[in-house]
Amino acid sequence: MPQPPRSRPTFPVTLPRAPVPGSAAAARTRASVVPPTPVHATPAMASDAVRQRMVQRLAAQGIADERVLRAMGAVARHAFVDGALAAQAYEDTSLPIGLGQTISKPNVVARMIELLLAAPALADQPQGRLGRVLEIGTGCGYQAAVLSQVAREVYSIERLRGLHEKARANLRPLRLATVHLLLGDGMQGYPAGAPYAGIIAAAGGADLPSTWLDQLAPGGRIVAPVQSGNTGQALVIIDKTNRGIERRLLEAVNFVPLKSGIA
Ligand code: SAH
Repeated sequence: MPQPPRSRPTFPVTLPRAPVPGSAAAARTRASVVPPTPVHATPAMASDAVRQRMVQRLAAQGIADERVLRAMGAVARHAFVDGALAAQAYEDTSLPIGLGQTISKPNVVARMIELLLAAPALADQPQGRLGRVLEIGTGCGYQAAVLSQVAREVYSIERLRGLHEKARANLRPLRLATVHLLLGDGMQGYPAGAPYAGIIAAAGGADLPSTWLDQLAPGGRIVAPVQSGNTGQALVIIDKTNRGIERRLLEAVNFVPLKSGIA
């Protein structure tokens, strides 16, 4: 008997409303996180099951925000890396993306986006979406795609032309109208899109450029790696609150260096 045609997933996906974190319904959902229709340029692939296992691992590692788990489950990470590496795309490992750069581990991407969503401005909206977000270091475009699931608008800057173009090619089939890719020096931020509800950096320097703080909206949050003493990098979160700037150093991380200029 002929089967009715299966509808193709569209992008961006409409995420069903999740239960309020902490509620009994949330506890039930957390036990079996099954994100909605995955996002692909092509119809469903065998990678879906592997990606859902990655999401379950993220939840077991402590990622609790349903918005983040759904976003991580919705974006096909394997489509952002070279074919030869696709089999490793859902392992908890960073992978080379060319020009000496790397795509961060899924766990680090999820952790940073979870921190971004915990910004003071969203504190009373546990299911809210971020407004405009600035990403420094587009790389292959993976994190920008994940961010597009939790923010209304994503501006992502890359300083290496080769990667900027690679991200463009990777993202084109997903038709993400809310993701804007820019070639430029992210140390200058991107004033035309400011103010940002969140700024997230995928490369770390000695300290945060002051332009990022200038371009952050009140109630907004920066999540970035910074050099911490001479021991290495640590994640830092910076909140622009009505009491002033609040800065908190978190766990050690290992990101590529933040460099100035375009190449
Ligand atoms: N989020 C990326 C990870 C990319 S790695 C992904 O999902 O693939 C970090 C990127 O930051 C590298 O591509 C590097 O070229 C870029 N980078 C470093 N300094 C930068 C700067 N000042 N402005 C913009 N991009 C920068």
